[in-house]
Amino acid sequence: MAFRGVVVTGMTAAVVLMALPAQAAPTCAKVKCIALTFDDGPGTETGALLSLFRKERVKATFFLVGKHVERRPALVKRMAREGHEIGNHSWSHASLPTLFDEQVTQELLTTQEAIASVTGRPPRLFRPPYGHTDDRVLGLAKDAGLAQVLWSGTTLDWKLRDQKKIKAVILKLARRDGVILMHDTVPQTVQVMPEVIEELKKRGYHLVTVSTLLKGRRLAAGESYPAAP
Ligand SMILES: [Zn+2]
Repeated sequence: MAFRGVVVTGMTAAVVLMALPAQAAPTCAKVKCIALTFDDGPGTETGALLSLFRKERVKATFFLVGKHVERRPALVKRMAREGHEIGNHSWSHASLPTLFDEQVTQELLTTQEAIASVTGRPPRLFRPPYGHTDDRVLGLAKDAGLAQVLWSGTTLDWKLRDQKKIKAVILKLARRDGVILMHDTVPQTVQVMPEVIEELKKRGYHLVTVSTLLKGRRLAAGESYPAAP
């Protein structure tokens, strides 16, 4: 912050300390970073996950389903307040390439509006449900002001439904600057997350949002990141 380095004393010092950010985002060019991403929420388990992240000072990225945003706005507000990144995961979790143009646009824009009405700003990132996407969907996302975020590793946690297996696959997929796909709607994923965080930290990872991972580079609307494996 601008105040850093200014010589201050007494009461002024206290004011300056309060003005400093509680926790600056790490510089991923210098340290080992990884982005944990959670799709399909907010769900019934999301509050517990947010409490864990707050305790562990972890930032994550949530790709939200619009109709769930409408159901659980308080959780969305909390995500934004606590410094997590929020992305668009369509309104109804539709396979977007199967829809007409105007339907794709509606899926994206209604979700943009739902999130903006809660957090005050529309997302800049979207992740296509099931990873189903094509050039047409990407073009329509661009028109909606969205960049596409895929993943470097997918856990298939929704299929595994087993804490030990989910932990093992996350740790196997973990790599520097990786984007790991999980679901906060899978209870076993949320339950095993304390162990996962502990192990990732032990391995030297900083757990950050997708945007922090990009080291200050801003994804343009219509851009896709990272390339699917
Ligand atoms: Zn999904």
